[in-house]
Amino acid sequence: MQETTVFTYRVSLPPTEWAKASAARRSAGDLWTRLVKIHRFCRKRHWPWPTEAQLKAHFKGRWPLHSQTIQALIEKFFATMDGVRTKRQNGDKKARYPWRFRRYFNPIFKRQALKMQGSHLRLSLGRGREPIRVRLPDALPTGMRVQAELGYGEIFLTVTRILDDPQPPVSEKAGGLDIGVIHLGVVSDGQEALAVSGRGLRSIKQGRAKGLAHLQKKRRRTQSGSRRRKRLNRARHRISQKVERVTRNALHHAANQIVAFCLATGITMLYAGDLGTLNHQKRHRRSRRTNQEIGVLEFGRLEQYLEYKLRRYGIPLIKISEAYTSQTCPHCGHLNKVAGRTYHCRACDYQAHRDGVGAVNILNKGMHQGEIRPGTLLVPERITYRRPVPFKRALRRSPAEPRHVAGGISGSESGGSLRGVHTPRRSHNGSLRISAL
Ligand SMILES: [Zn+2]
Repeated sequence: MQETTVFTYRVSLPPTEWAKASAARRSAGDLWTRLVKIHRFCRKRHWPWPTEAQLKAHFKGRWPLHSQTIQALIEKFFATMDGVRTKRQNGDKKARYPWRFRRYFNPIFKRQALKMQGSHLRLSLGRGREPIRVRLPDALPTGMRVQAELGYGEIFLTVTRILDDPQPPVSEKAGGLDIGVIHLGVVSDGQEALAVSGRGLRSIKQGRAKGLAHLQKKRRRTQSGSRRRKRLNRARHRISQKVERVTRNALHHAANQIVAFCLATGITMLYAGDLGTLNHQKRHRRSRRTNQEIGVLEFGRLEQYLEYKLRRYGIPLIKISEAYTSQTCPHCGHLNKVAGRTYHCRACDYQAHRDGVGAVNILNKGMHQGEIRPGTLLVPERITYRRPVPFKRALRRSPAEPRHVAGGISGSESGGSLRGVHTPRRSHNGSLRISAL
């Protein structure tokens, strides 16, 4: 079995390398902007848009980047365009073709442009140019490095690995998973249930919103291009990055806990609500009290992480429609409006933890060809509640030790350490405090 994973590492570069990296990111930004401009030019005149091959031939050797980096960026542009086109064809009129001019863009380095030298990764910028040398952390994933993307102070490594084929299960056992805001995920096999809390994540998002609003207010009083404006921009970037890292870490841990539950209970296939068909509004209606959402994006990410983590153990994640799964009474099938933390059926007086209802109903639906058969699966008496990560610890400055969850699955895939970087501290009222300004 083959698996392709993207690993994110924070890197600190010495000034010379930083300069080269900035220049490369700048060139990539220029190239992207050119593509956007050409596209806009053609669209306005209703001209046919040049083919990928034409553009590749045109831009070959015109940028101080590796020839394959140029090709990869053009491919990325085309992939983005295709995505938008499909969306528009499916009736999403708001989907916009790439339009933003980019000062910086992450250059992509294909395999031929990558070379390991001791603990350093060499990113080639093409013949006759000095490569960028990036020091990578010691514990690197084994496997073939397919490509690298150079970001601002971070690097994204795509690695393909060959994994042992999992043993085929002796007997089939299904589980149901409900993904949501209050709980990132509730998983159940009908006998037991595990709920992974989403509260911490939500409060971090709220903290970011507050922090960013505060900065925005300060920023408005500064002049564009001024040193103070730049400093505030950096602070804004820092907050966003930090929140992204904490979020990613929490989602990985949440996914690992769900996987561990599946392994411990012997689940061999997991049904989950199909988030692909879910738009933001629907999700919103479901959790009307949370106005600062974790966001549909994060739900999709959790599902993605789960999918590949489960695949390692040969457990497929099967997506089914989650319509009515949170409202239907597991006991009698009556549809109830749900309010509060306890599910209460008005028809049969069935009471259960609200969190478990969605999960057992999804399981029920999965096992009965998309139909909920009332009375066959009830919410387990005991629900284990877990947090993905102790958030206060996650927000401390010191590098977090790689933690292990039950079942021995390593949770350090979110990669990178927090070392040596100034990060905004979290104050007691839950907002991100901006210091050193
Ligand atoms: Zn009922």
